[in-house]
Amino acid sequence: MTQTLHIVGGGMAGSEAAWQAANMGVQVVIHEMRPKVKTFAHQTGNLGEMVCSNSFRSDDDEQNAVGLLHWEMRAANGLIMATADKHRLPAGGALAVDREPFAQTVTENLQRHPNISVSYEEVTTLPDDGHWIFATGPLTSSALGQAIQAETGAEALAFFDAIAPILYADSIDMSQAWMQSRYDKGETEEEQTAYLNCPMTKDQYEAFIDALLAAEKTEFHEGETAGYFDGCLPIEVMAERGRETLRFGPMKPVGLTNAHKPDEKAYAVVQLRRDNKLATLFNIVGFQTKMKYGAQTQVLRMIPGLRDAQFARLGGIHRNTFLNSPTLLDAQMRLKTKPNIRFAGQITGVEGYVESSAMGLLAGRMAAAEILGQDLPEVPQDSAMGALIHHITGGAEAKTFQPMNVNFGLFRPVDGLKGGRRGRKDRYKAYTDRAKTVWSEWIRSFT
Ligand SMILES: Cc1cc2nc3c(=O)[nH]c(=O)nc-3n(C[C@H](O)[C@H](O)[C@H](O)COP(=O)(O)OP(=O)(O)OC[C@H]3O[C@@H](n4cnc5c(N)ncnc54)[C@H](O)[C@@H]3O)c2cc1C
Repeated sequence: MTQTLHIVGGGMAGSEAAWQAANMGVQVVIHEMRPKVKTFAHQTGNLGEMVCSNSFRSDDDEQNAVGLLHWEMRAANGLIMATADKHRLPAGGALAVDREPFAQTVTENLQRHPNISVSYEEVTTLPDDGHWIFATGPLTSSALGQAIQAETGAEALAFFDAIAPILYADSIDMSQAWMQSRYDKGETEEEQTAYLNCPMTKDQYEAFIDALLAAEKTEFHEGETAGYFDGCLPIEVMAERGRETLRFGPMKPVGLTNAHKPDEKAYAVVQLRRDNKLATLFNIVGFQTKMKYGAQTQVLRMIPGLRDAQFARLGGIHRNTFLNSPTLLDAQMRLKTKPNIRFAGQITGVEGYVESSAMGLLAGRMAAAEILGQDLPEVPQDSAMGALIHHITGGAEAKTFQPMNVNFGLFRPVDGLKGGRRGRKDRYKAYTDRAKTVWSEWIRSFT
């Protein structure tokens, strides 16, 4: 076996991809631009550096989707998880790690591996041949960003995310909200009822604007710019420009009739749009925000119908290079126009250390299997890994695609279980039990 796998970027995803492929017997070269070329967030030349918080979030593999992803990566002999466990810090139910020794251990393990070599250089093109995984992350160098854009088209690569909050459909109070597209637009009934609407009276609107203006906001990181602002203003900035701005923007009440009170004209309407094909998740249209997470949940729960809303992910705006994966990548994360190239990690439109390493793990195994001529069964959709890769490579709505954390809203429902808040504990346990079974079977298919 002489074919080499080239992995560009030795962060969370690239490090895990290299480890997995090398353990399957493939020769791997990691191309990492640091420390020669720096990013505004990384501080060292280590592989697997954590750029900000030192948390891998919840470690609960029965009731939490991130904890389940931990479990699945441990079951697959993941380097990132094993190293995180080794350098674990006390943090209650969360998995926090001692970041310096964590990254040093990741680096040492990769450098010591007989099948891996590391080349410290920036890669600026997408090669036409050879096997490649690009895992260059949210801060992909600008020369490479331009090359990706030239290949995929300007619309298909974003340099910022502008995330509107996403919530679980079953936590919305449908006795207040109703389904209708503005002016009933659309050919089919499905299109005419594509949006979920939450009406506000004048008093509710005024109270909402007051709370929005008073809410605590996060600052931009050093090195981030606000040049993207015009296309996607945060709602609080719109409110600062005038108390009525939102009523003439994302909260305009026109073309809609309240199904519960047809004679009452709403003063403002908040619209939510389906975020996945399963229709288990909805995003709040045009509600990108820099409000701090605690303030965000308080303010958003003031919206009629969202009092008990459970959020799959909260809103934010960050520097973040990511692809429109649902249109560009196949089910194995290969670029459809250049199948010798895979993408992995945050650049594929997942969000977070854990999700990025998870996508690295899959890309590494898939690329190695391809090089070795092994048939790989499809990643089971009912595992956390499968739910996530399925979302980014097809399940998500391509038009509004924004980076995603793993969450139970991405999972196919388990039949026969109670919906709503009461049934949540049993539902989550059923998801995690099912995931562990199918993931273990998938892992066994390698040996
Ligand atoms: C400011 C900031 C704060 C964040 N905070 C958090 C947080 O607190 N928690 C969290 O879970 N996630 C956070 N994230 C997201 C985080 O970056 C990802 O979760 C994770 O690091 C992504 O892993 P990755 O492997 O895709 O990218 P990275 O870990 O960033 O790795 C990409 C690697 O590619 C290298 N590279 C880039 N371009 C090239 C090139 N052309 N040639 C060669 N090498 C290249 C980079 O140097 C880097 O080492 C943050 C992101 C940013 C930008």
